[in-house]
Amino acid sequence: MTDTPARTNRSGLRFGTKLVLILAGLVAALQVAGWLTVQVAVRNSIDQQLSDNLELGARVWGRLHEGQQRQLLERVAVLADDFGFKEAIATQDAPTLRSLLESANTRIGASHGAILAPDGTVLAARLPSDGALPQAGIADRVAEARIAGFSSGVIALDGEAVSYALVPVFAPDLVGWLALGQSFGATEVEEIGEVTGLVPSVLIGESSEVWSTRFGAWSASAIDAAALATNAATMPLHRNDEALDPAVGLRLSAAETTAVYLVLEADRERAMTPYAQLQNQILGLSLGAALLAMFAAFLIGRRVSGPVGLLARAAERIRQGEYATPLAVRGDDEFAELAGAFNAMQKGIAEREERIVFQSGHDALTALPNRERALILLGERLADDQLPRGALALLDLRRFREVNDLLGHGHGDLALVEVARRLREVVRDGDLVARIGGDEFLLGLWGLDAATAEQRARALVKSLGAAMEINGTPLRLDADLGLVPFQRDESGGLPDARTLLRRAEIALGLAKHEGRTVSLYREGSDEQHLRQLAIVGELRGAIDGHQFELAYQPKVDIAGRQVRHVEALLRWTHPELGRIGPDEFIPLAERAGLVTLLTRWVLERACLDMAAWRSAGFEHGVAINLSAIDLADADLAQVILSAVRRHVVPASAIIVEVTESAVLADLDQAIATLEALRAEGIRVSVDDFGTGQSSLAQLKRLPADELKIDKSFVLQLAPGSDDERIVESIVRLGHALGLKIVAEGVETADGLGVLANLRCDVAQGYFFSRPLAVNALLPWLREHADGITKEARP
Ligand code: C2E
Ligand code: CA
Ligand code: CA
Repeated sequence: MTDTPARTNRSGLRFGTKLVLILAGLVAALQVAGWLTVQVAVRNSIDQQLSDNLELGARVWGRLHEGQQRQLLERVAVLADDFGFKEAIATQDAPTLRSLLESANTRIGASHGAILAPDGTVLAARLPSDGALPQAGIADRVAEARIAGFSSGVIALDGEAVSYALVPVFAPDLVGWLALGQSFGATEVEEIGEVTGLVPSVLIGESSEVWSTRFGAWSASAIDAAALATNAATMPLHRNDEALDPAVGLRLSAAETTAVYLVLEADRERAMTPYAQLQNQILGLSLGAALLAMFAAFLIGRRVSGPVGLLARAAERIRQGEYATPLAVRGDDEFAELAGAFNAMQKGIAEREERIVFQSGHDALTALPNRERALILLGERLADDQLPRGALALLDLRRFREVNDLLGHGHGDLALVEVARRLREVVRDGDLVARIGGDEFLLGLWGLDAATAEQRARALVKSLGAAMEINGTPLRLDADLGLVPFQRDESGGLPDARTLLRRAEIALGLAKHEGRTVSLYREGSDEQHLRQLAIVGELRGAIDGHQFELAYQPKVDIAGRQVRHVEALLRWTHPELGRIGPDEFIPLAERAGLVTLLTRWVLERACLDMAAWRSAGFEHGVAINLSAIDLADADLAQVILSAVRRHVVPASAIIVEVTESAVLADLDQAIATLEALRAEGIRVSVDDFGTGQSSLAQLKRLPADELKIDKSFVLQLAPGSDDERIVESIVRLGHALGLKIVAEGVETADGLGVLANLRCDVAQGYFFSRPLAVNALLPWLREHADGITKEARP
């Protein structure tokens, strides 16, 4: 069994594969959806967490910063309370003041320092850049301190954030102000980062240009100035158009001074770290689940497609006509049920098919095989090497139509059933009995030789011939039978079924034709039959196709050595079959009812030719051969007369040659026709005389002018031969009846000599001339115009 397309579906994927794909796809989709959900949840949660962190960080930083400020303030206040310090300030001596600031640097690590007069004028200043302290903004700080008793905070100095504290110095009256500051730089920021887990940086300036401890110079357009101004908890930060992690900006400097912010950025990456691990785990799990699903789908697919595949293969078996193998029914699930149903269906189909096959191959009435089935059975038997010989018999009931017509079809049917019964009775088991037509039966008699088969055939016909009673009506059915014995040829081959049947039909035709009940097929009649069929088929077309010609053979007057008539003989040259002799096609034309057409053509042609040679000065008449059917044609005389008149030739120039047997077929009709012809001056010749069984009495009645002795008596005619005596008696008899005697088939001088001796009147034959084509005839006639010089041998 070949693999068939039935096993894959239209998309080309097996069911199992599809299932695996679908399930795997589903699981993958679910996993992706889950993963996305987790991703979103994580992001949201992280965002929340970051914002919480920022808030917390801001608060922590606030505390820290407050503490640091307080510490600085306390230290500065302690320093300002120092007695020596107060005295030094009171001196208002600049180098002393500067050394005071120097020592403050060492004592409390103040990188920036300034001593102011009570009115706020700068008396001495110390900056890391060695620059001067800008006066702007100092008045405000001092004013603030006058009210609050101190001022502290963050201020931008020289592009740097500085944390400062400013306190009054009393001795005991106000003698000045001490301001000390520390760079609010990398260390402090780092510390904030460590404490809060955020990324801190200091941002100085506002409007267009800012400076960040993290990013350096920075375009302020990136900063939401409004957000900074409102000191919002979080603010969006952009750098180079890229969104930074959420951040919060806290303004450290006082409102009127250069802005100093502490920016706390959340670190998303750090926040993500624990989740990333989780995500990897989830990814791993998802992958595992997908693989597991695929495996499960594969198993299910196999479980389903296995039985389905079995079913598909079984269905394919059924399609190819094999019903014997049932499906194995296993388990008790749906598949087992399906297999059971399938087996039942298969059995049903097998039974139905058997019935249909039987019905299509058998005759419903007799239950015998019909023609098609018979040919198949016959073919099978002939293909069997064990069969050495046998015979095929074709049997046809005689006049069965009459049985039907007289007794009705019901009786006819019963008779056929009885015939079938009798046939089956006579043949042996295993022989073929078939009804291949209404009243035609075919019998295969296997293994019998020709003689035994013939005996069996005769027994069959005899058994059928025995009286039967159909519904109380006595009936006898006779039959004709064509028999074809066959046996293996030298190469061990047997003829094929159709050839045998055709031969049986030919044999049956012979049986009917010859009235012989049983007729055996004769070797070669098959091929002959086919050729005859071809010839009959081609005849009519041949007339229109100008394939016919006439040949003329001179009839020589023996005594006078003159030619008065020529016999027209039909010639047919077929484009494929070649020359076909009249002896072959005339009888076929007669049987096919086409001979009158041929006769008319010959008549027409002969009159035409005759007119031609008459105008050339040759007054020769034409002998035309007629068939029995022509003689039955009442119009024949009229047809000939009209042809003669049309071509302006005398009717007396025409001789018709009719055979004895043609005349005898319907003597009275023939006599009437011939008399009509003679009345017009047309002469009548009895052709092939001596071969028929016409009696003298009949001959006497025949309206004839000449007797043409058949060439079988003439061909070997020699002095002293039997033929001589026969010819002699015919001549005598003919002369006695007043008939002219013609001998045809004169081939030798000896023959001519005998004929001359016996006083035969006319001779025709190869000795003088073969039949000549019309253009060869005139030269011949001209050459022999003064008489035939060929001599008879006495
Ligand atoms: P048939 O009428 O007896 O014609 C004489 C046949 O003997 C011709 O054969 C002719 O060629 C042949 N024959 C003549 N002399 C000799 C000879 O010396 N020796 C031998 N062996 N044969 C000789 P063909 O032409 O083959 O014609 C055969 C038959 O066909 C004719 O016999 C005739 O019965 C029939 N036939 C020919 N033409 C026509 C026709 O136009 N109409 C009809 N109805 N029958 C025709
Ligand atoms: Ca003839
Ligand atoms: Ca003849």
